[in-house]
Amino acid sequence: MKHAQQRQHVVDLCIELSHRGYFAGTGGNIMLRVDAGHVAVTPSAIDYFSMAAADVCILRLSDLRQVEGDRAPSVESSLHAGVLRARPEVGCSIHTHQPVASALALLGAEIPVPPEWHAALGPRLPLVGYAPSGSGWLASKFRRAVRPDINAYLMRNHGILCCGHDSAAAMRAVDDLETLARRLLSQRIGARAVGSAAGLRQALWRMHDALNGRSPS
Ligand SMILES: [Zn+2]
Repeated sequence: MKHAQQRQHVVDLCIELSHRGYFAGTGGNIMLRVDAGHVAVTPSAIDYFSMAAADVCILRLSDLRQVEGDRAPSVESSLHAGVLRARPEVGCSIHTHQPVASALALLGAEIPVPPEWHAALGPRLPLVGYAPSGSGWLASKFRRAVRPDINAYLMRNHGILCCGHDSAAAMRAVDDLETLARRLLSQRIGARAVGSAAGLRQALWRMHDALNGRSPS
């Protein structure tokens, strides 16, 4: 099997993302650069806990022609390829429906990033407009949003995409984005609770506590 080590690495990343709660069911996918012209990508609609290295697809980056793996590649291959083609220094791209950052993508606006997160994520979280999953329309909208200094993107009413120079950096961006999203949503909920009528205020604080992993008092 060609590229066995990198294909196994994709399997390991998917299991880690599932354990961390960022991949659920068959949702979420990864592209990893394996050499100058090829990428490894998760197969479409597979249970990540039963996936084997041989299930991971190897594609030519230039035209996404499949060169290894019998399974169909992820429907979001074009989405990831747009990032890896536009940014040759990026080695890994991760798309998830992770719960808190995906909630941020429902707000319908790009989000400024506080300065302490700029190095990891970039100065803002762009909001890529909605288009159906796996569509060329979504891939082309995303391609237009890619910037050299931005490693985390919100996808309206859908999820997020993070990238990095290698898989460890992309994983860190996924983690950092979820932490930042939790903080930003908590601030918004807290601000809304102040001055709200008692019933709404209690409901908002319950939501605030749940978001921060605290059980209701
Ligand atoms: Zn998705």
